[in-house]
Amino acid sequence: MRVPLLDLKAHNAPLKAELMAAVEEVVDSCGFIMGPKVEAFEKEAAAYLGVKHAIGVSSGTDALLVALMACGIGPGDAVITTDFSFFATAGAVSRLGARPFFTDINPVTYNMDVESARAAIEMAKSAGYRPKAIIPVHLYGQSADMKAIMALAAETSLAVIEDAAQAIGVRYPVDGHPQGLCVGAIGDMGCFSFFPSKNLGCFGDGGLVTTQSDALAEKIRILRAHGSRPKYYHAIIGGNFRLDALQAAVLSVKLPLLDQWHANRRRNAARYREMLQQTKAVSDGWIQLPVDVYDGLVPHSHIYNQFVIRVDRRDELKEYLKDNGVGTEIYYPVPFHRQICFADLAYPAEAFPESDKAAAETLALPIYPELTQEMQDHVVGAIDSFYSK
Ligand SMILES: *Cc1c(COP(=O)(O)O)cnc(C)c1O
Repeated sequence: MRVPLLDLKAHNAPLKAELMAAVEEVVDSCGFIMGPKVEAFEKEAAAYLGVKHAIGVSSGTDALLVALMACGIGPGDAVITTDFSFFATAGAVSRLGARPFFTDINPVTYNMDVESARAAIEMAKSAGYRPKAIIPVHLYGQSADMKAIMALAAETSLAVIEDAAQAIGVRYPVDGHPQGLCVGAIGDMGCFSFFPSKNLGCFGDGGLVTTQSDALAEKIRILRAHGSRPKYYHAIIGGNFRLDALQAAVLSVKLPLLDQWHANRRRNAARYREMLQQTKAVSDGWIQLPVDVYDGLVPHSHIYNQFVIRVDRRDELKEYLKDNGVGTEIYYPVPFHRQICFADLAYPAEAFPESDKAAAETLALPIYPELTQEMQDHVVGAIDSFYSK
């Protein structure tokens, strides 16, 4: 049996007629840049996420870039972020000439360790940098410890830019909100990606910036189109960060189904848990299951963009699963402080032990919404037989 890591064909098949109709409408209108499709999707996304402003942009990477630009981040500034994420999180900081200061991670959630963030702020100051912003990442589809991060940011006057690329629709417990708040609605800005492998994916690259601030929203909209307002008059320098009308049209078809997909992913996660807990691999401690920290407190506490297990003999297991037709992936094999492009930051190799451990021990299993019970039986059976060998 073959179980791919992701099956976009199965995902899109039931929607094909509707998606093609939406695409055809844009093609017939010839309105490819901005326009009513982008505006409509921005309104729908803002309503879904419970934010005042949602601004469509060209990718999750550009969402981070434009959010940092809106904070005026540049040379001499420090931005605090996790050592363990997709490259774009740190790359966006360096591209603006600012310096990223990394933090270690919590070994249970793989998200930013807040005490380590406090230390990073002090380190930035003593190295002569101005700490201006902090980028928590909601890795794998679960919120970072936003209560502690917001408190730290308030105390140290940092802007909070949430990297919610893997976490659209994830909720986090917040006092006074019985259903919690969506991530991306908690900090000053939230950044989302519609890369095809995210829970809400388009047919290419796309992204979104959210904010409750009128002033930041205005600035992001101006930066998105070369900093021009009115057209051809530039008081500031921006870029071409626009979301295509075609992508917006596709996203509007898909957004109403997102909660159902989240529910399917959560069902699949529950099945893995139940089945894996009966294996010797778990009882003997060879593998550790992901922890849904806020389960029961809010809906969508974890949306399993990835179902990541921590395992013994990771690379061998990956090979074995591959030989048995199971697709897996390592997110991410090299922490930021060990990347060649960040060698100039001069971090000691052992600076972030939990990040290093995660890079060496974690493995993402197939979790996509269309996965069947039989496929999961196959995956669990293969894991079980690997550790029984
Ligand atoms: C996917 C991702 C991004 C970048 O999004 P793109 O749309 O691919 O540019 C940024 N941060 C994280 C955590 C991501 O997973």
